[in-house]
Amino acid sequence: MGRRNNRYLKFSVAAIIVLLLSFFYYENNQRRLAKTMEDNAYPETSETRIIATADTQENESTTAVTESTEATAESTTPSTKDATKNAAENLSPQTMKEPMKVNGIIIVNKRYPLPESYAPGENKEALSAFKKMNEEMRALGLDITSEYSGYRSYEDQAALYQNYVADDGKSEAEQYSSRPGYSEHQTGLAFDFINTAGELVSSKTEADWIAANAHRYGFIVRYKEGQEAITGYMAETWHVRYVGKTDAEKIYKQKVTLEEYLGVEGGDYSSEEQ
Ligand SMILES: [Zn+2]
Repeated sequence: MGRRNNRYLKFSVAAIIVLLLSFFYYENNQRRLAKTMEDNAYPETSETRIIATADTQENESTTAVTESTEATAESTTPSTKDATKNAAENLSPQTMKEPMKVNGIIIVNKRYPLPESYAPGENKEALSAFKKMNEEMRALGLDITSEYSGYRSYEDQAALYQNYVADDGKSEAEQYSSRPGYSEHQTGLAFDFINTAGELVSSKTEADWIAANAHRYGFIVRYKEGQEAITGYMAETWHVRYVGKTDAEKIYKQKVTLEEYLGVEGGDYSSEEQ
């Protein structure tokens, strides 16, 4: 075999290897992307009935709420930071008497559930702020609809959770769905943005805008990338939580989780039981 042929052979082998590697990389990425989209999609059957609209032109009845005076700025529970530390063992929705609050801010995570009976409905102040934010985003031409997922009762969350567990198994379902009593949506202070495809908003342009502007409306992006170990959840670019402008601005500037800001425990569930 001549030197020229030899070089040609070497080049061909290298080219084939590069092609094969690119193909596997592409396949793998596609699979990961498909998986992410699947996780983010709303299963129509379970979520349809809890989607509301932020469009003020539309029926106001979807926004009718309770007379809750549970505004976040009020401090009704005199909890101190020290008292809350390491106090989260074995709390359950059945044993909780009232929501855990620090400086008037309700905290819900995998350590601090809400009482099973806690059903405040959508918080008016939060809903009004969400509508304004939603309107600004649509005016800017971002891929957002007036539909959203807001208040979710204990029973709604129980049904949702059971469906996910039935579909994906408990450990997988718990990567993205809360146990009943542990969802921030039960506070009436949390909202999910939905795009024109009817999916939870995760595209970069929209996600970046939400992350950079939510605080102007009194919201925080509750579950961020890199904070999973503290929040207990994978990143959710579409989920905002109302805390009021003052605290939202501080949390945004400090780049901390709500757990760190309030000085409370976070992380995973303390028990295997539901
Ligand atoms: Zn959410």
